[in-house]
Amino acid sequence: MNFPNLVSSKLPNSGTTIFTVMSKLASDNNAINLSQGFPDFNCNKDLISLVNKNMEAGNNQYAPMSGIIGLREMIAQKTEELYGAKYNPDTEITITAGGTQAIFTAISAMVKESDEVIIFEPCYDCYQPAIELNGGKTIYLQLKAPDYRINWDDVKKVINHRTKMIIINTPHNPTGSIMTKEDLQMLQKITSNTDIVIISDEVYEHIIFDGNQHQSVARFPKLAERSFIISSFGKTFHTTGWKIGYCVAPKNLMAEFRKVHQFLVFSANTPIQFALAEFLKVKSHYLELSSFYQNKRDYFINNIKGSKFDFIPASGTYFQLLNYKSISKEKDTNYASRLTKEFGIASIPISVFYHESVDNHVLRFCFAKKNETLDKAAEILCKI
Ligand code: GLN
Repeated sequence: MNFPNLVSSKLPNSGTTIFTVMSKLASDNNAINLSQGFPDFNCNKDLISLVNKNMEAGNNQYAPMSGIIGLREMIAQKTEELYGAKYNPDTEITITAGGTQAIFTAISAMVKESDEVIIFEPCYDCYQPAIELNGGKTIYLQLKAPDYRINWDDVKKVINHRTKMIIINTPHNPTGSIMTKEDLQMLQKITSNTDIVIISDEVYEHIIFDGNQHQSVARFPKLAERSFIISSFGKTFHTTGWKIGYCVAPKNLMAEFRKVHQFLVFSANTPIQFALAEFLKVKSHYLELSSFYQNKRDYFINNIKGSKFDFIPASGTYFQLLNYKSISKEKDTNYASRLTKEFGIASIPISVFYHESVDNHVLRFCFAKKNETLDKAAEILCKI
C-alpha cells in the first residue's frame, strides 16, 4: 500500500528508548534483566493495603489538578525536615505521573524557541527530546569517566545570554555519581545574577551511600529560588509501575508548571496519592532506603570482585557501572547485546546517553534485585 508522506518528524534522531530495547531483548532471550531500572521484589504490603483501602472507600475519581492536599503536605514536611526548605503545599508542590512527566512539564513550561539548555553527558535520555520538542537548543557538556564530576569551568564557558536552563541530576543516572556541597555552591555562584532556571532531577534522593548526604538544591536558598526539584515515589517505594512523582518549585515557577501539567495529564492517580500520604507518615519507609540499597550494592560488588570487570562502587542510585576494557574492545551496544544473547544477562550500554555516542566500554547494571537474582548475575559475570 502507498501512503502519502505525512510525517516530517519532530524528533528525527530519536528511536525507541534503550530501556525498552534492552528489556525486550532480555525477555526474548530469557536473560537476567539488570538493564531497565526496576526492583524484581515487591513493595511493602502495607502500601498495597492502603491503596486497596482507598479504592474501597471510593477515592477513585479525579484528584485535584495539583494533587491531593494531604500528600502535598507530607512532601512539604519531608522537604523541610530533610533539607531545611519551606515550600507551600498549596502553591509550590504538584503531584505528577512520575518523574519523566514532571521533567517534560518543567521543560515545556520554561523553554522557548532558541533558548539554550545545558545538560551533562552521559545524560538520562528524556531531557534532550523535551528540549528539542520545545524548540530549544541543547548544549552538551561531558562528565569525565571514571568519576563523572562536573567541570565548572566548562559550564562558565558556555553560559551566555541565551542560556535559559541547566539540568542537573544527583544521585546520577546512569553513573551512580553524586554532587557535593561544593558543586552546588559553584552552581549557586555561577547562576547568581542570571535568569537561568534549574531543573534538579533528584529522583534517587533517598538512595545514597557511604554516609554521604544528599545535596538537594533545596538546601541552597539562592539556588532553590530558581529551581524545579523533581522526585519520584517509584524509586523510593519500589513501585516504578505506579508512575507517581512530584515537583516542588517556588510559586512563580510552579504557576507556569501547572499551566502545562493541567493539559498534559490534568492530575495523577487518586487512590495511590491517598495511600502515599499515609505511608509517608512512617519516616523509616524512606530513611532506611539508603542502607537497604547499600547492602544490595555491596552484595553485588563483593560477588563480582573476582571477575574481569573494573568498577568504582556507585555512590548513589541502584545502578553500578562496570568497565569491560580488559575483556573486549567491542562497542558497548554490541557487547551489551551479545552479553544478553550469549551469556543471558542484560545491561544498559552507556554510549547511548551521549549525543555523539562516546564509548568508554562501560555498561550499567541495576542491582535493585533479590539476592538470588544478584547471585545468578554474579555467577555469569565471573565466568566472562
Ligand atoms: N529510570 C529507568 C532506568 O534508568 C527507566 C525508566 C524507563 O524505562 N523509562 O532504567
